[in-house]
Amino acid sequence: MKYTHTEWLSELKERFGDDLTKWAFVCPACGKVSTVQEFKDAGADPNDAYQTCIGRHTGKGSPTKNSKEGCNWAAFGLYGGDVIVTEDKKEVPVFSMADPAALGNNEEDEN
Ligand SMILES: [Zn+2]
Repeated sequence: MKYTHTEWLSELKERFGDDLTKWAFVCPACGKVSTVQEFKDAGADPNDAYQTCIGRHTGKGSPTKNSKEGCNWAAFGLYGGDVIVTEDKKEVPVFSMADPAALGNNEEDEN
């Protein structure tokens, strides 16, 4: 998906709410889903959450197939997920947003 920065933020708020610590992204290399809170807990910058795998901050190595434990991947300069188009038309690659249902906090599921 391509988003403007504004569209991207509003989509994140729609999926996860206004609390950015609950925003979650998927690593395109290992499939690990991490919230911004996990990055803060690992001592990383919240802004790392959409451009690096949590594994870069917890000492993991190269991605292994379906490990979902984190790896050393980063989105800099490569395509791995979503793209944010800035006002001056630069395209910034970022990790895809996670599916909120996969986090187990889907409040609308009442069945
Ligand atoms: Zn990873």
